[in-house]
Amino acid sequence: MSRKIIVQKYGGSSVANILKIQDAAKRVVSYEDKGYSVVVVVSALGDTTDELIDMAFRITKEPSERELDMLMATGEQVSSALLAMAINSLGKEAISFTGAQGGIITDRSHTKARIIDVNAKRIKEQLNKDRIVIVAGFQGINLEHDITTLGRGGSDITAVILAKVLNASTCEIYTDVEGIYTADPRIVKDARKLDKISYEEMLEMASSGAQVMQARSIEAASKFNIPIHVRSSFSNKEGTIISKEVKSMEDVLVSGVTLNKNEAKITICDAPDKPGIAAKIFETLAKANVNIDMIIQNISRTASDATDVSFTVMKGDLQKTLRVTRKLCRDIGAEGVAHDENIAKLSVIGIGMRSHSGVAAKMFKALAREKINIEMISTSEIKISCVIKKSNGERAARAVHKTFGLGRR
Ligand code: ADP
Ligand code: ASP
Ligand code: MG
Repeated sequence: MSRKIIVQKYGGSSVANILKIQDAAKRVVSYEDKGYSVVVVVSALGDTTDELIDMAFRITKEPSERELDMLMATGEQVSSALLAMAINSLGKEAISFTGAQGGIITDRSHTKARIIDVNAKRIKEQLNKDRIVIVAGFQGINLEHDITTLGRGGSDITAVILAKVLNASTCEIYTDVEGIYTADPRIVKDARKLDKISYEEMLEMASSGAQVMQARSIEAASKFNIPIHVRSSFSNKEGTIISKEVKSMEDVLVSGVTLNKNEAKITICDAPDKPGIAAKIFETLAKANVNIDMIIQNISRTASDATDVSFTVMKGDLQKTLRVTRKLCRDIGAEGVAHDENIAKLSVIGIGMRSHSGVAAKMFKALAREKINIEMISTSEIKISCVIKKSNGERAARAVHKTFGLGRR
């Protein structure tokens, strides 16, 4: 009978130096000893990706996205080769693959490419030879044979997709915290670890800034119904299971609070208030491969027939967005573009919001008590987000976390 397959992903903090790589190797080998076929996905060492990006931006404000992908993908190549060597030196056979060698095929967009196919033939061949297979996370290759990357935190989606394609029995994400918490434990000291969380809530938490899991990986896990076990690479404790919603989850009003400091606010000032303008703005930004998060359009001031349109984008896309919107302003006859990088987005998330009212009021009240001004608000069925001043972010997160009684009891 063929062995059960386990996919384990080790994040950057879990392979930050040689000692940690050796620890990860020992853990991998212990699963092989338990009888699993192990496929390992690795991130780049520690902060390597940030350092590589930093170098690029020291050369130019707007590096070519193709070249950024060439650069960033090197990080995971280093960690996967080192991990394979560390496993080999424990007396087991391991082989490392780049994303391309692992058969991860993506679309043509750079820096946030989507996986369109996986040809897992080589991985399967190696597993059949009883080898441990290491795949560089966060990267793939497109049909033009160019290297692509899958968006920040993208090793998570490499792991989820491989778990699906290989029909793995388990998908584990190893990180530097013991699981998913009610808030970032670095910011909210009494944040509580959750034993389980639904895909839906995790997706909202991830897309509103809980960097512990990449949002797209949760989308994929939910689509293919793959449970994920998020756990610490520094202990053997059980972590958090991310899976389909179970009934009892609805009893909890709010599951978590997130703070995102990676967005910037753009305002197109005095855009003509007439049909087609919003379509034109956001179509142009979509063509430039800019992902928009919150959007607010103010009511036109009666006399001027002009309106302000504000939205938020990832800071990494800010320069591109400014270039595109400044040109757009001239085309549509808007007054100009303002931007603010010193913002933070605070969100509360919970399936319980579907059946309970008053969550927004409670959140706004907690912010009011702290005398924190709200600049933008957006809501979904299970989430409420506020844009506030960045300098107020952490204080706001603690106050809101407390107001919903989320701390350790
Ligand atoms: P990795 O290197 O393993 O990919 P990341 O740094 O990407 O790790 O993500 C782990 C970090 O995410 C944690 O150290 C923690 O500070 C942060 N984090 C933010 N929000 C949460 C949350 N709700 N639960 C757990 N961790 C969180
Ligand atoms: N190294 C990449 C990043 O820092 C991918 C990952 O860690 O998942 O975003
Ligand atoms: Mg990560």
